[in-house]
Amino acid sequence: MNTESSLLGKPEIIQFSCLSDNYCSLIHDSVSGQTAIIDTPDAAEIIRQLEARNWQLSHILTTHHHWDHIDGHLELKQRYNCEVIGSEVNGDIIPGIDRAVEHGDQIQLGELVIEVLSTPGHTLGHIVYWVPSLDAVFVGDTLFSMGCGRLFEGSPQDMWQSIQKLRDLPPTTAIYCGHEYTQSNARFALSLEPDNIALQQRVAEVDRLRAENLPTVPTYVQQELLTNPFMRADQPELQQQLNMLGYPADQVFAEIRQQKDQA
Ligand SMILES: [Zn+2]
Repeated sequence: MNTESSLLGKPEIIQFSCLSDNYCSLIHDSVSGQTAIIDTPDAAEIIRQLEARNWQLSHILTTHHHWDHIDGHLELKQRYNCEVIGSEVNGDIIPGIDRAVEHGDQIQLGELVIEVLSTPGHTLGHIVYWVPSLDAVFVGDTLFSMGCGRLFEGSPQDMWQSIQKLRDLPPTTAIYCGHEYTQSNARFALSLEPDNIALQQRVAEVDRLRAENLPTVPTYVQQELLTNPFMRADQPELQQQLNMLGYPADQVFAEIRQQKDQA
């Protein structure tokens, strides 16, 4: 299923499903004809989506080194001779990497400027791609709707700082996540904050969308601020529910992550 954004002639974002619950996004700049993919869970599906639009792949933007984000890198690079971009941390395990980037670097896709933010936590080299002119950020497995990535390599302190970088983006920013985990995240979030009205409304919306097999992402910074417990670790309402009122936010974050891991 696709979420087509924007008008003809403007840069487009196309989100589609891959494998069982991964999402993939193409960014296409129609002026230059350049097209980037964020992560490559499934080369065959990505080729199908490109060919359906007569697009050539010019860039692969890697969020992190887990197999379901890099599996198609070499096949796509061979087919399209595209540039593979990834974090300088963990860079040596990203297949076919041509350019290693770090926090603050910029990538040019035609006239579009894509900014790199480093978000360690899920992995140490995890990076996300922010496109200010499209009001969109591609976050891989750092953030999910009402959830966040498991801490495989980084500490809770790392991840809390990473999440604050996303929280600081403009509230209207669309967040493109790497997986459809929203419904199970929603149950957990609601168990922590049963009285949160915005959360109740979002859960109802998510249940409606999933009943029709529709995606629940992209989500938005302003929506996650109100509903995502991992973004709300410094909010008194949530701290109270955890009997941690006034605790440092990174400690509250660590407690929420641990409870979710055991849920
Ligand atoms: Zn991952």
